[in-house]
Amino acid sequence: MRVPAARRLQLGQQMYSTQLLDHFQNPRNVGEIADADAMAEIENPACGDVLRLTLKAAGGRITAARFKAKGCVASIACSSALTELIVGKTLKQALELRREDVIAAVGGLPQASTHAAQLALDALSAALSQIGK
Ligand SMILES: [Zn+2]
Repeated sequence: MRVPAARRLQLGQQMYSTQLLDHFQNPRNVGEIADADAMAEIENPACGDVLRLTLKAAGGRITAARFKAKGCVASIACSSALTELIVGKTLKQALELRREDVIAAVGGLPQASTHAAQLALDALSAALSQIGK
C-alpha cells in the first residue's frame, strides 16, 4: 500500500501581510459616531461583508471616522486602514483616494481580497456624498 503524499496545510493567514494582520487583530477606530455627519452601510453580496462607516467633518475636513465591519479578514483590515487614511484629509482628498491607496495601507492584498479595498472605498464615497449638501 502506498503512503499518500502529505497534504500541505495552507494557512489563510500566510497570504496576508504583517500590516494587514495588524489591522485585523488591532482594528483602529472601531465603533460608531453618535452625532455623525455622514453614515454609510455597504454590503458586498459576493462574500457577505458589511461595512458601516460614520464620519464627522468640520471646515471641509474629516475630523473623525469610525467603522463597524462584519466580514472577512481583508475587509476588516481595509476598513481599519481606511479610517486612518481619511482622518485629517480634506473632503476632496478623501474623494481622490483610490483602491491602490487602501491596498498600500495594508501592505498589499491578495488578488482574491481586492473586493475588501473596494468595499471600504464604496462606503467612503457613499458617506462623503452626504456631506456638504
Ligand atoms: Zn470579503
